[in-house]
Amino acid sequence: MVLRPVYGHEPLLNRLEGTLASGRFPQATLLVGPAGVGKQRLAVWVAQGLLCDRGPGGPCGECDSCRRVLALNHPDLHWFIPVVRPKAGDQDKQIDEVEALLAEAIAGRRSDPLYGPPEPMASHPLASIRLLQRRVNLRPFAGARKVVILGNAERLVVQEASQEAANALLKVLEEPPEDTCLILTAREARSLLPTIRSRLIPVRVGGVGDEAVRRFLQAELDPPPRGAALEQRVLLAQGSIGRALASGGEGDAAEKAADRLLAAVRGGPARWAAEALAQAPWAARGDFTAGLDALAVRLRDGAATEAREHPERLRRRVAALQAVERIRIEAQGNANPQLALAVLARELEELA
Ligand SMILES: [Zn+2]
Repeated sequence: MVLRPVYGHEPLLNRLEGTLASGRFPQATLLVGPAGVGKQRLAVWVAQGLLCDRGPGGPCGECDSCRRVLALNHPDLHWFIPVVRPKAGDQDKQIDEVEALLAEAIAGRRSDPLYGPPEPMASHPLASIRLLQRRVNLRPFAGARKVVILGNAERLVVQEASQEAANALLKVLEEPPEDTCLILTAREARSLLPTIRSRLIPVRVGGVGDEAVRRFLQAELDPPPRGAALEQRVLLAQGSIGRALASGGEGDAAEKAADRLLAAVRGGPARWAAEALAQAPWAARGDFTAGLDALAVRLRDGAATEAREHPERLRRRVAALQAVERIRIEAQGNANPQLALAVLARELEELA
């Protein structure tokens, strides 16, 4: 899967494109604006423009670099997402742990480009900033430069030792290597320490228009909402695509998890393996069973239509339902959710 296109923000994109074309994009930028308006998605767009093989300007979207950025596997794009705090005592081990957690988080965004906000307790611990320092000092792997995105930068302070993390980040911002662009995103500039803020060029990101939200919902959701349901979601979104995604009703996270698993199964073994791995080991067991319940509902919903139209497939669907039930019971015990999901995905594969 690749990231979904940027919806809306046309005037801002034009402005950013102009700055990119000048070849003088600032080395440290802060994209600031309300939740869910697409700040990190815009940061990735800028990264694409900075790394594009066709040289300075907006991203061409077609070259190898552009594609790899969109698929989140460009070696010179370093995207830092809030993670749960590492448990290791030793500092180097903490950095290794954070590196593994980030790789998982990126795999999660790769398999679900319509990702939601980070876990409430996730943050940028000191080990993340130490890792960022390390990566900033690497030479670019593919091209002439590298781009570091620090999403939800306000999460830098929700933890102990935040001063140390802030100081480490400040050191990077004071003297970034010439081949490095850093892009931070935050809801409010004042949620960052003044010393950090003063090093950043702020770029305001506003909401998108209703038309962009509507286009997004129609193009990116499967099945797309229609009629009154569509209009209600556009209205509730108030220019935030993140809010439009979250407004899908109660138990939306579980529904999304079920959809994601089914989509992953349809995507073949590599994708469902990634999905199974992305099932964070710390995810609440309750979330996991809620996801299974939503999946069971999906399978049951489809059964009635299938009984009429494809009676030969009904047997498989019933078998898949039984598998969901079985794993649901196992999940009450000590079953490893990643393993359970991988086993389940294999059983569902036949159905895809
Ligand atoms: Zn390109």
